[in-house]
Amino acid sequence: MMKGPRKDHEHHFKEQGGFEVDISMKKESIDDEFTEVPPADEMMVFLSQHIGPEAEPLVKKGDGVKYGEKIAGKEEQDHMMVPVHSPVTGTVQQIKDMPHPISGEKGRVVIIKTEESKKCPFYEPLGPASKQALLDRVREAGVVGLGGASFPTHVKLSEKGIDHLIINAKESDPNLACDVRLMIERPKEMIDGIKIMGKILGTEDITFATRTKEGETPRFEKLLKKSDINIARIRPNYSVGSERLLVKEVLDKEVPSGRFPPYVGAVVHNVATALAVSRAMEGESLVSRGLTLYSKKTGGKNLWVRMGTPIEHILRYLGASPSDFERIALGSIMMGPTVPNTSYPVLKATSGLTAFTSSERYPYKKQLACIRCGYCNTVCPVDIYPQQLMMAAKKGDVKRLKELHIEDCIDCGLCSYVCPSYIKLTPHLRRGQAHVKGDAVEDL
Ligand code: SF4
Ligand code: SF4
Repeated sequence: MMKGPRKDHEHHFKEQGGFEVDISMKKESIDDEFTEVPPADEMMVFLSQHIGPEAEPLVKKGDGVKYGEKIAGKEEQDHMMVPVHSPVTGTVQQIKDMPHPISGEKGRVVIIKTEESKKCPFYEPLGPASKQALLDRVREAGVVGLGGASFPTHVKLSEKGIDHLIINAKESDPNLACDVRLMIERPKEMIDGIKIMGKILGTEDITFATRTKEGETPRFEKLLKKSDINIARIRPNYSVGSERLLVKEVLDKEVPSGRFPPYVGAVVHNVATALAVSRAMEGESLVSRGLTLYSKKTGGKNLWVRMGTPIEHILRYLGASPSDFERIALGSIMMGPTVPNTSYPVLKATSGLTAFTSSERYPYKKQLACIRCGYCNTVCPVDIYPQQLMMAAKKGDVKRLKELHIEDCIDCGLCSYVCPSYIKLTPHLRRGQAHVKGDAVEDL
């Protein structure tokens, strides 16, 4: 965090109140081509990798499974359920309960012994098809939002009355570059996916929202222009990567508090999700993705990883040891929750891994007293009061949390980032939202 004289804008995002977010780590990663990480001998596949009810298992101990085969997700389950597929050909060794790395709640995990790592599409490619057939394939292939929210893609694509599709390639996270790499390495498939999304939603008004400058991804830009997809170059700011703020930025439409973009006729999909949609049409289930691993030891590495791969396997593949790191965040430096240990696997929503060594300053380790400086209020992009919300969340004061509009928090982490007392406000804000919803509230 910096306040004071302006820094080089190539390496900083500018936030409200004059704060700056260092993105030099992103810049370090952009030139690193994707490296494919082979699967581990034992893969750990969580059956909840999306927002919605956990997928019901379709396999049991001892069953043989093929690469891409559906292993969970019964047809009759809730519309919000997204199926889960096997990332390898192998045998189910066990189905067990483990605390989920994001929710902290107990979740089921299928442990698969890898026997064959070869990849081939599990489904038949889908040629020209009706909107419903396209939508069914998106769900059947297990596609969720890959920007980090893991909202079921088929649900978002089922919205009616949509005039605008916005593709979010803002990639705000300061240490991730995997979306830009996809734009450089797989432009055609991504454009195909975007067009399919537009077709399902019934709109030709598509805007590609990107942080990149003209000429940074030339092949991709050429294809966008050829496909009549608008390009919106978004100012260098961290928080406008969030859906509602992006809609305001691109369409100048305010999404009211408690509502979502379809309320104003818009849908926002992440750029990596477009690639997953395109692959689904070719018959591939969503069992792998691109992510950026960042640590001072390894630098920024763009990796192609199968879901279910334990983090320790990835570290060893890169020549590092899990014991080199004190803390690993499943996601970006700003938003990623800390994993309990490195045996935890990559999920569909894992766009990054951030590893900290014990010699690095871990700002939230020693929290000091609040000095009421107000920095957290100044930087908050949705103009709520993080410090007061934290106090209300600590007391479980639902009335106060509602008065202070806890529902508007976009979980961006900026308040924690700027706090001079190293107070980690965001976990309290998440607890506050859980209090309001009446959900189970985790201890901190
Ligand atoms: S929580 Fe941190 S940033 Fe907010 S007022 Fe207190 S010391 Fe300042
Ligand atoms: S995490 Fe929530 S409260 Fe904190 S700055 Fe972001 S939106 Fe505001």
